[in-house]
Amino acid sequence: MIAVLKKTATKDQIESLKGWFENKGLKVNESQGEFCTVLGLIGDTTQVDIEMLMGLDIIETVTRVSEPFKQANRKFHPEDTVVDCGGVKIGGGHFAVMAGPCSVESREQIIETAKRVQDAGATMLRGGAFKPRTSPYDFQGLKEKGIDLLLEAKAATGLPVVTEIMNPDHLPLFKDIDLIQVGARNMQNFELLKELGKTNKPVLLKRGLSATLKELLMSAEYIMSEGNPNVIFCERGIRTYETYTRNTFDLSAVPILHELSHLPVVADPSHATGKRSLIKPMAMAATAAGADGLEIEVHPDPSKALSDGAQSLTPEMFTDVMAQVTKVRGIL
Ligand code: PEP
Ligand code: MN
Repeated sequence: MIAVLKKTATKDQIESLKGWFENKGLKVNESQGEFCTVLGLIGDTTQVDIEMLMGLDIIETVTRVSEPFKQANRKFHPEDTVVDCGGVKIGGGHFAVMAGPCSVESREQIIETAKRVQDAGATMLRGGAFKPRTSPYDFQGLKEKGIDLLLEAKAATGLPVVTEIMNPDHLPLFKDIDLIQVGARNMQNFELLKELGKTNKPVLLKRGLSATLKELLMSAEYIMSEGNPNVIFCERGIRTYETYTRNTFDLSAVPILHELSHLPVVADPSHATGKRSLIKPMAMAATAAGADGLEIEVHPDPSKALSDGAQSLTPEMFTDVMAQVTKVRGIL
């Protein structure tokens, strides 16, 4: 349920109404907008008498939220949420580009990539340390060592870092990571989501391989309902019958998620298409669709990459993509 308060409501009146809801066992999520205050009520609202509330001077409207996602819902929080990832803001007009290799492979590789993507205009460094691979015989990532190397690259460049977590027991290793990624394969790992919800770390929640947008929103709700509001969605393509591309980039997810939720939405054209030649047009398209940021794989020598070489850009190609994306941003 949401209660929209009149502009004239005083601080004292708002506090007293919040106390009244809390006494009924409800959790109150207050969202201060430019024109009104919205109180989102979480819990069993069957006891709340809508008619009685509507009779109060300070109430503009009261409506029941029928969607099962509450805290991620834009109705609860009409303003865009801005998530701060180690000083880089994402959402509400703040655009971030996270670039770097699929996997952290060596000190030289990650530091060189970090410098090259930073020179091209990236604002965050990506790199997998724990890798979710389809085959157990493929490179599984440098694990703890990979995290250390990412942090070295951060120290060398100042770029905040994003990397994937697969196991909630690994959380202590991520204490200096600026944005923790939940990969597509773990979007419905509910125990992992709940543990991330108990932290206040920004979480990049990637859409599952065959997840609906409602399922994605419900996964965000798992994190938020534990108390962590710092969630960013990532559209990374879904499974369809098309085989030319690795996945099918569902670009409509970007404006749909913006309609339904106040959380930022990032797009990943690399995993969505699987093909280097498609990254530039799809990065431009995602930007035009209103994405709050991009996640793009870049490798100093893609032919030698230990994972996802076919979709990795060279630093030169990434420089060109950044120039085109900047042009698109300029006309929005
Ligand atoms: C990744 O970004 O490294 C990754 C594995 O992506 P996804 O979870 O979207 O497949
Ligand atoms: Mn990859």
